[in-house]
Amino acid sequence: MTAPHIVWLRRDLRLADQPALYSAARQGPVICVYVLDDERAGSRAMGGASRWWLHHSLTAMARELGKHRAKLILRRGDAVDQICKLANETGAAAVHAIRHYEPWWRKAQGELAKRIDLHLYDGNYLLPPGTVTTGSGDPYKIYTPFAKSARQCLPQREVLEAPALTNPDTWPASDDPDDWGLLPTRPDWAGGFREAWQVGEAAAHGQLDDFTDRVAAYDDDRNMPSIDGSSRLSPHLHFGEISPAQVWDRLSRHTGEGAETYRGELLWRDYAQNVICQFPAYPSESYRDLGGEALWRNPNRGHVIAEELQAWQQGRTGYPIVDAGMRQLWQTGWMHNRVRMIAASFLIKHLLIDWRHGEQWFWDTLVDADYANNGVNWQWVAGTGVDSNMFPRIMAPLSQSEKFDAGDYIREFVPELAGLSDAQIHDPDDSHRPADYPAKIIGHREARERALAAYRQAKGE
Ligand code: FAD
Repeated sequence: MTAPHIVWLRRDLRLADQPALYSAARQGPVICVYVLDDERAGSRAMGGASRWWLHHSLTAMARELGKHRAKLILRRGDAVDQICKLANETGAAAVHAIRHYEPWWRKAQGELAKRIDLHLYDGNYLLPPGTVTTGSGDPYKIYTPFAKSARQCLPQREVLEAPALTNPDTWPASDDPDDWGLLPTRPDWAGGFREAWQVGEAAAHGQLDDFTDRVAAYDDDRNMPSIDGSSRLSPHLHFGEISPAQVWDRLSRHTGEGAETYRGELLWRDYAQNVICQFPAYPSESYRDLGGEALWRNPNRGHVIAEELQAWQQGRTGYPIVDAGMRQLWQTGWMHNRVRMIAASFLIKHLLIDWRHGEQWFWDTLVDADYANNGVNWQWVAGTGVDSNMFPRIMAPLSQSEKFDAGDYIREFVPELAGLSDAQIHDPDDSHRPADYPAKIIGHREARERALAAYRQAKGE
């Protein structure tokens, strides 16, 4: 009997362009395993929306493997212990995995390498994180020079086909995903998710096919929440159902401005990971000190923020664009990028609530919740980031809503306002505001002045 090779899957749930699987398959029979390990991630264990996606992604991966008469083995517990246990049970020759960069995975990879023959591969980013450096060999801190330098190295490699698989003589025991309780039951809040998403590798490629027909208009349409102008690939990319190299390759024949801008967005994903490699705690620690804790309203200093935080989470701030975004997030697990920026800015600057409360809410509710992308974008909006907006740049939600023609988007997600005209929908006056829609939680001008005053005070001016 030839010793099998274990492929340890995490956020790389695909058969094609999966270097760990590709390499393992060339060396012998393959056993693919996914370990659900909430302990190692600690407070960064997957949120509810991600768990919903994971359930369906694992099911899809098992279905794809089934086409090769192969199985996906599921285990629960400490990832390192479980992989070693499986290797013992099966007499595996080695373990192959795509390198992950979240701090808890880096630690696990280090521990596993001491106990077993572990082969790590790059494959979840366009370029291996940490390899894009300045002339003096330092990692970039700012996006624009990072992206310029990265573009010169792309594409770095050919995309890989899904390999032919050889199966082991016997299959080890596996958990049943239905027993993991990843799906909500009481209440089942995922109805909108089921309508919004097809999950898995085949669905990701279907989504990319659809987007390539629209990519020429991406530069203009991506900012318009009422239009389906972006690719909606973020959860597929996050769970590794498609690789960024596959996306880059597929768009390589598209030369227009839309495709150029899109490549720039994909590079933001690489850039965010490059930031995490330098500052592993970035999603929970401000990089730039804007006056310590003095800036944010804080229950420890007598401020009552709980009700306002809840109004923001539930989409009841009285700002239609913010409320539409927050309700889209709750219903579908995703929010349009322009609206993410507006909603995040509103929490941080209009409500003066520490960006980490928002980051945590997004972590729990986004199907694409990503350690790097979420942290980097929240700090970008807050003005605390390594490369970020300045705090005093305060987005005006009402004029943003009008500028980006968000009327139909608001009508879809805030049905109380569906009957309002284009003139009223962005900022309904008291005579048009329905009784069941809240008044503004704070006026725009008042909020702006309060934020700027708090900023000046926190800086000691
Ligand atoms: P497209 O416009 O089609 O972009 C293609 C891909 O490029 C995306 O799928 C994504 O992988 C990447 N990308 C695009 N914009 C960014 C960006 N600003 N930063 C990093 N990568 C980007 N994105 C996440 O994937 N996970 C998150 O947890 C996340 N949290 C965010 C929080 C805030 C406050 C903000 C303002 C943005 C956040 N983003 C996050 C970035 C962005 O909003 C989403 O990637 C995008 O909306 C996903 O939709 P799409 O796939 O249609 O994007």
